[in-house]
Amino acid sequence: DRPYLEVDDLRVQFKTEDGIVRAVDGISFKLERGRTLGIVGESGSGKSVTSLTVLGLHNMARTRVTGSVRVNGREIVGLDEEKVRRMRGRDMAMIFQDPLSALHPYYTIGRQIAEAYLVHHPGQKAKAKRRAIEMLDRVGIPQPQRRYDSYPHEFSGGMRQRAMIAMALVNDPSLLIADEPTTALDVTVQAQILDLLDDLQREFNSAIIMITHDLGVVSRVANDVMVMYGGHAIEFGSVDQVLTEPQHPYTWGLLQSVPSLRGNAEDDLDPIPGSPPSLINLPSGCAFHPRCAYRMIGGGPCDLEVPELLPTAQEGHVVACHLPENERRRIFAEEIKLG
Ligand code: SF4
Ligand code: MG
Repeated sequence: DRPYLEVDDLRVQFKTEDGIVRAVDGISFKLERGRTLGIVGESGSGKSVTSLTVLGLHNMARTRVTGSVRVNGREIVGLDEEKVRRMRGRDMAMIFQDPLSALHPYYTIGRQIAEAYLVHHPGQKAKAKRRAIEMLDRVGIPQPQRRYDSYPHEFSGGMRQRAMIAMALVNDPSLLIADEPTTALDVTVQAQILDLLDDLQREFNSAIIMITHDLGVVSRVANDVMVMYGGHAIEFGSVDQVLTEPQHPYTWGLLQSVPSLRGNAEDDLDPIPGSPPSLINLPSGCAFHPRCAYRMIGGGPCDLEVPELLPTAQEGHVVACHLPENERRRIFAEEIKLG
């Protein structure tokens, strides 16, 4: 069985007045059905652009995409818009952070879900309505028959997110991309939505990409994690490897900004100092070096050579950092790991 999604050396560039934005610069990964990949990074790391490209939403003017994105064996890069449109919704679908931006305010929730069904099942109006009600029920909307006729503003934030999930799943896609789906919700609702996605994944055996800046979300739902910085993958591995034995200084910083993962939920957030790099002029060498407390100063390669993503002693765990692995392990164990 080949993986449902295979991304190989994906690069996405935009031309702007200020120069070329290298939003994604050589990303590779595979994802099987029934598995969840967490893609983690700050805004501007390339995580959203990666997912939009997987959905084929990259055929825009001034955008250059190279490399390969295969969904169910089919190449998306270079595929014409009409063919991509036929796959979107049916083979892969997306849920966004803000359902209000994806739901039209003037149409009822039910009608919008039915319309999404009709895109791939033209003419089947009665079936589309039945299917929409069934999906509303499946995502936990009470009284789905009645709620079919509600407008988006009549739903709470959590209910809207459920409705969006219903819309994304109405054509039974095998790949679901969720971009910060719970960021705008309070903690309780956030947990309910993540549980719902977990249930639905088991039921539909889908592959899920969960895009988030929050390693707490990753620890809940993901099997594998890719950490992105400046358009590059800088660490990749299983959730266990990346969350309990992370080896990249940037991942350490992300981990320290999640109180619940530090074992002390009372702690203040400890954000990474500095800001994300410009994707037009990435810092030389390791793009993280201006913010890295562990960079090798004075003749070290950190500001000179781009570190490659290389295997660690643990199978499947790869890291792009010039520090020797034993040194990374020592620093993490002695200075970072808490609780
Ligand atoms: Fe820090 Fe150097 Fe590793 Fe980059 S390569 S993360 S600057 S130690
Ligand atoms: Mg984003």
